[in-house]
Amino acid sequence: MNIVSDLAEGRRILAEAIGAAKRLVLFTGAGVSTESGIPDFRSPGGLWSRMRPITFQDFVASEAARLEDWRRRFHLMAEFEAAIPNAGHRAMARLVGSGKAIALITQNIDGLHERSGVPEDRLIRLHGTGTHASCLDCHERMEIAEAEAAIAATGQSPRCPACGGLIKCAVVSFGQAMPEAEMTRAEAASRAADLFVAAGSSLQVHPAAGLPVAARRAGARLLIVNRDETALDSLADRVLRGPIGRLFDPSDDAGRDGAP
Ligand SMILES: [Zn+2]
Repeated sequence: MNIVSDLAEGRRILAEAIGAAKRLVLFTGAGVSTESGIPDFRSPGGLWSRMRPITFQDFVASEAARLEDWRRRFHLMAEFEAAIPNAGHRAMARLVGSGKAIALITQNIDGLHERSGVPEDRLIRLHGTGTHASCLDCHERMEIAEAEAAIAATGQSPRCPACGGLIKCAVVSFGQAMPEAEMTRAEAASRAADLFVAAGSSLQVHPAAGLPVAARRAGARLLIVNRDETALDSLADRVLRGPIGRLFDPSDDAGRDGAP
């Protein structure tokens, strides 16, 4: 195992590896966004440790569960809108924009990669997005604000104007199937990578955590960038411990140091 905790050394290793890569794939989790003030839902004290998650089955079966899910979504949407992409998001957007990174795979639902300028065709969202909603039957899109207005007006969870189906925030809920097309794209990108950089993920949630393993097996170098230990540290070529924004962007020394 090869753990580097020194910031300057970590920056040097990351910059050199990225410089040498021909097909970089970036993979991100909650740790990238905690540096923008968005809490990690799964961490101790995070949303899911304080409230029982509403499963997909609950949502479909119960109007009360739907209204509670929406109440939480509106709260989260306000947090997402108040947050600003940080140095890590911006550095990754530059790597995608320059063509260096062939894909950015994310577990995050906060929309910060989109807002930092990563184009849709290079962004693979494994857990959907919390920034809009869609119909469970015909996939018609609805904005979160529109859903909020509908509930305020009727007291009932919103229905699809096109087909009458249930509208749900476009995240992948507990108990809901992973998006097949996104998983297929993510697996293909991971196998094509010559460098796979996993940042801000504890790499414990499957099947997402299988992607770095697939990349490594297909011959990619694996770098893990995270504040804390991850489940795959022993598999990585190098493990860089530290604040993600500052490791990706040496000019970010004036930036915030992230949550403790
Ligand atoms: Zn519909």
